[in-house]
Amino acid sequence: PRTIFSGIQPTGVPHLGNYLGALRQWVTLQDGAPRNTSLVYSLVDLHAITVRQDPKQLRQWKKESLAMLLAIGLDPNKSIIFHQSDVPAHAELMWILSCQASTGYLGRMTQWKDKTANEKDSSEKLKLGLFSYPVLQAADILVHRATHVPVGHDQAQHLEFAREVANGFNHTFGRDVLIPPETMISPARRVMSLRDPMAKMSKSHPDPNSRILLADSEETIRRKIKAAVTDSVDGITYDPEDRPGVSNLIDILYHCDAHPAYPSQDELAKDLAGLSMRALKDRVAETVQTTIKHIRASYAHFLNENDDLDKVAAQGAEKAAKSAATTMKAVKSAVGLI
Ligand code: ATP
Ligand code: MG
Repeated sequence: PRTIFSGIQPTGVPHLGNYLGALRQWVTLQDGAPRNTSLVYSLVDLHAITVRQDPKQLRQWKKESLAMLLAIGLDPNKSIIFHQSDVPAHAELMWILSCQASTGYLGRMTQWKDKTANEKDSSEKLKLGLFSYPVLQAADILVHRATHVPVGHDQAQHLEFAREVANGFNHTFGRDVLIPPETMISPARRVMSLRDPMAKMSKSHPDPNSRILLADSEETIRRKIKAAVTDSVDGITYDPEDRPGVSNLIDILYHCDAHPAYPSQDELAKDLAGLSMRALKDRVAETVQTTIKHIRASYAHFLNENDDLDKVAAQGAEKAAKSAATTMKAVKSAVGLI
């Protein structure tokens, strides 16, 4: 039997990078799942508070993120959809794994190094939760005995850590209690920011024009893509190294098609070679609009159904708690807590 687990932080309305890099895969896996597959998708709010959040804003984002998971096509009758903090086993397993995880390994995590690069001299300000974030992520995955984890490329290192933690635990306690999960990286592994094509598109980047939200109007999509940073080289070519902005637009165009009509971005770019930058942007805007149009309408609907959202969250939490219970029992027994 396969168990798919993945999570998204409720740190804003999900964007095109989240969709092409992760969320669309979640839906495909759900819709094509054989009978013996469990699907577990979490809004990881405990991860969201590793950086300072306004409580009112966080509550709103949790609601919006849940509405968005339904809007993209996740079905609570087929997938377990829940808020992480509703299921205490995640934090509980995290503590037990923290007693196994090495601080040296955690200190080498790219995300930790990136986020702390500016605060090197002020370790008083750096929070322990931000440092141990990957341990919580490992607990999220391992507590549900996930075999496969569909994520974007930025999470590959954390997944490797999760496998290391599982293997380390099994080795220490001499039995196969935890299952090392497999990483599933989507073909659209890293959608870049529209304002800075060297950085990935992110929910939490301060510039809202750097990302296309799944809830954006056609007008807004057009405006943001028009303003995307490109270059002044003549003609359209695919060259992520030297022309990151244009290449990101080509990547977006390529991956919006769930079954790309071209064997590679290079081949697609050859067909676009004669276009002006403006015409390319028009084409990208139109394609993005078509790709996410169905989501926006559905999102508006779910966002207004407060009772339904509460019900989905409550049912999801109950199922997720059951899914986690087996692992907690085995782990506590292995460690000697029971
Ligand atoms: P934040 O800035 O708050 O970290 P985020 O945009 O990175 O937000 P996450 O909630 O951290 O989003 O990640 C959710 C999923 O989306 C993960 O699987 C992650 O790998 C994937 N993802 C995030 N950004 C991108 C991107 N630019 N391209 C492809 N996949 C992405
Ligand atoms: Mg992120």
